[in-house]
Amino acid sequence: MFKSLLTGLVATVLSVGCSFAQSYPTKPIVMIVPFAAGGPTDVVARIVTEHMSRSLGQQIVIENVAGAGGTTGSTRVATASNDGYTIMMGHMGTHGAAPALYPNLKYDPSKDFEPVGLAAGTPIIIVSSAKIPASDLKSFIAYLKANATKVNQAHAGVGSVSHSTGILFNSMIDLKPTQVPYKGTGPALNDLVSGQVDYMTDQIVNVVEQIKGGAVRGLAIATPERSPALPDLPTTKEAGLPDYQVSAWNAIFAPKGTSKDIVDKLNSALTAALADDNTKKRLLELGAVLPSAKEGTPAWLGDFVKIEVARWSPVLKAAGATAN
Ligand code: ASP
Repeated sequence: MFKSLLTGLVATVLSVGCSFAQSYPTKPIVMIVPFAAGGPTDVVARIVTEHMSRSLGQQIVIENVAGAGGTTGSTRVATASNDGYTIMMGHMGTHGAAPALYPNLKYDPSKDFEPVGLAAGTPIIIVSSAKIPASDLKSFIAYLKANATKVNQAHAGVGSVSHSTGILFNSMIDLKPTQVPYKGTGPALNDLVSGQVDYMTDQIVNVVEQIKGGAVRGLAIATPERSPALPDLPTTKEAGLPDYQVSAWNAIFAPKGTSKDIVDKLNSALTAALADDNTKKRLLELGAVLPSAKEGTPAWLGDFVKIEVARWSPVLKAAGATAN
């Protein structure tokens, strides 16, 4: 009797769980973007969620929760309800570099989230204000060194992609510029266009259009090959700083304990979005690198986050980055 009652109970719980996952989502999903609107994380999030919303049958609403290099929004998601209705677009900073720079970080990128899937690889570009009188990387570096006490570098807060990749660049050319933090590289780019800041190192998807239009100057892309989105932009190897090799990425995460069924549904929607011609075209035009089938699974992303956290800690230490 007790046994059959228990079996019945287990069956009920399982079927409630299953039917919940089957019907998910029944209301809009909030996706936290931990940076200001208009920047690379926001742009990648808006492009992929447009298609994901359609295939899930519910709107994914973007909420920009900026601050502390993306760690404020990430903390919000790490502690949110794991019912599938709060997810985030994280990146190499929030889920790779941040632990090395925040000793009291309130989340562990590899323990406090369920990885959903990689959305885009985003090579790093060294980009300067068009006002700087240097048309290539060598003369730009010479200009920075000659004006070392005056130049300033924009970034999206300690631990962000632009911050950590900027630290790496500065250490390679032995420069300590004034750092100007923003809530994202969207607003930072506006100030780069107007010439209020001198340079930054940022994810390609943020800067392709402004480089093409001449609003800012692209100096080099930090990948072994040129990008099809900016075929005239030399690589750092071609431009004379071959050791500066760095690519970032954006990926979707849910709070720890979000059910596998929900994670799988979100991952399928992301995969469908990345296979959609129009979505693909928009991302590729911005220079994003799309994940391969192998790189598209939650398990791959989980392993990748661990690798990234382990990779960034010694790199940032060697570059002289100090924890705040
Ligand atoms: N790409 C930026 C960074 O981490 C953040 C943003 O998306 O605005 O530097």
